[in-house]
Amino acid sequence: MRMEVVTYSLRNGQFNSNQYYQDAAAFTDEVLKEAKVLLPIVGRFQEYVQNESIEAIRSAEEYTFELLMLGTLWRIYADDAQDISSGWTGIMAYLSRLRQRNQTLKPVADGIRGVLATIFLAPTDRAWSPKASLKHLDQLLQWMEATGDHVQEVRRLHNWSEYWETLSAGQVSGDIEAAIAFARWFEERSLKSLGKYTPNVEQFLQEKHREHRWKEDVVFSARRRVEYHLNMVGAEIMNRSFRADFQQTKHKAVILPACMRYHSKPKCQARSNGLSCECTGCEPKCRVNMLMKLGQKHGFSVHLVPHESSVFSGDAGKQLIGEGVGIVGIACVSNLVSGGWKAKGLGLPPQCVLLDHCGCRKHWHEQGIPTDINFGRLYQIIGITDEKAAENAEKAQGAAAA
Ligand code: SF4
Repeated sequence: MRMEVVTYSLRNGQFNSNQYYQDAAAFTDEVLKEAKVLLPIVGRFQEYVQNESIEAIRSAEEYTFELLMLGTLWRIYADDAQDISSGWTGIMAYLSRLRQRNQTLKPVADGIRGVLATIFLAPTDRAWSPKASLKHLDQLLQWMEATGDHVQEVRRLHNWSEYWETLSAGQVSGDIEAAIAFARWFEERSLKSLGKYTPNVEQFLQEKHREHRWKEDVVFSARRRVEYHLNMVGAEIMNRSFRADFQQTKHKAVILPACMRYHSKPKCQARSNGLSCECTGCEPKCRVNMLMKLGQKHGFSVHLVPHESSVFSGDAGKQLIGEGVGIVGIACVSNLVSGGWKAKGLGLPPQCVLLDHCGCRKHWHEQGIPTDINFGRLYQIIGITDEKAAENAEKAQGAAAA
């Protein structure tokens, strides 16, 4: 049986997503090679970060990715960001923080945000890009903050904004223009390298996205194809950058999204346990159940969470997972990079594994399609070298896909 592809599929009609992981690694190498033009900008920023003690200096690859992210988001959203007053963006940013902090008020906050986001934030198709300046960057950051989908990205780009405040307008414009030009190259090139894994994004935007109008995810579900490609490369860069720290952790925890369950509620018998759910193993074919068993065998913990925000919500998240634990975050392409940065910010070195496809009822599919991952990739990330176990997991994957 062929799996329905909502927006992306890492399997591209194959039995597993092994080829995707090879292609994503090769394309990331190409991106980083091409990004050498940005290295002087990155070097000057690293010097500023160090001199001003902004944060522990991170790798040039990570800062390069931040510039690519800025250029990409600028090309898509900087025009939309000019249309809204700071009063409205402030209200929406407040509601976004409220929904993260207060589960009781979340439905009310989401209802209001859905209406406001559809009126003020929903992206347009205008092909216009505002002048590369600090003023327009600040407007873009306010717009991103208002969406509630870019909390980690905004945090990082604020550091860049503060750095650029120390430079002349001409230098700022030159740096941002360089990021935009690189993003232009990236969009075109990524379509050739990774486009086969995102075949239905445009169709989804044209035919299905209207159903998200007036809903809280009206902006999140409107992501363009290039944003999927951006996150794919971001996930690869993040895994490389945080690998050494992750390997040094004594305990590993795998965070699973609820869309991996074979049955949705109420058929799924998982018991709610505060921030996460406890799988009772009601369904042998369920991927969550399989991963729980693998975790018991290979010594990693598995946490099934309703939403990544609940597991990484500050002290509560640390209570659930513990300190100094290596995290393997499993999420769909659109959520992965911000989740990784969030975990890193909490002192939990992250690695990520992408869901092979998206399918949750909340954002992507009316009935919901159980999601899945590449077990071989998970084994490689955790460092499990038990070939027999990997082989069994592959077989189970084949059985589940059939
Ligand atoms: S096996 Fe666990 S996660 Fe899967 S449907 Fe049953 S209780 Fe839910």
